[in-house]
Amino acid sequence: MRRKLVVGNWKMHGSRPANAELLAAVAGARPYGCDVAVCVPFVYLGEAAAQLAGTDVRWGAQDVSPHDQGAYTGEISAPMLQELGCRYAIVGHSERRAYHAENDELVAAKAQAALGRGVTPIVCVGETLAQRDAGETEAVVKRQLSAVIHTLAHCAAEMVVAYEPVWAIGTGRTATPDQAQAVHAVLRAQLHAATGRGDRMRILYGGSVKADNAQALFGMADIDGGLIGGASLKAADFIAICRAAG
Ligand code: PEP
Repeated sequence: MRRKLVVGNWKMHGSRPANAELLAAVAGARPYGCDVAVCVPFVYLGEAAAQLAGTDVRWGAQDVSPHDQGAYTGEISAPMLQELGCRYAIVGHSERRAYHAENDELVAAKAQAALGRGVTPIVCVGETLAQRDAGETEAVVKRQLSAVIHTLAHCAAEMVVAYEPVWAIGTGRTATPDQAQAVHAVLRAQLHAATGRGDRMRILYGGSVKADNAQALFGMADIDGGLIGGASLKAADFIAICRAAG
């Protein structure tokens, strides 16, 4: 039985007073009956660590450098995330693939760097609307995942995967539970073929998950929770989504 996981992706939102309020509400609404984490902007990781220490709500980053240290101005390394107690690092989010030209190989290197320091990578895959319309969904997500599987090799079963159709992110347009389940089943088969442990790996769905659609999505056989963007910024919404997974 896979325990469900709900992860908030705050993206580039937040302020110290607003974060303190949001984190207090999320921690205060425990227990959830599922694993819960928030991936906050780098600069707020220390505060998240301080505020969430001693609770079972975990924290993580939204990206990580593929390098451990060196002359990489502006980058944040996996050892730094480890030092801050991060449990997770999102890698390959579609916004980073689109706006920072991240390719499959770089995403795989980031996942490897995170895992090497005990930080679980949440590897995002997903097709654009044009790719879906062209019937390429399966090929695209398999290609994206296969680069990471290849790089992580025998450690591949340690990652978390997030299926996030690009057309559903921040658009209010959600994949139907059946559409999402179909892709999750493909990803699980791929993971199982590569690791022999795909049945134990968590595959999250992300893309306009809200309190009112979470339960139907999380009820599907291969959907093990969610990666939540916009709705993770409102305590009541995020808490309701976590409860739907519990
Ligand atoms: C995301 O950014 O990972 C995401 C799923 O965003 P939203 O929930 O806002 O669509």
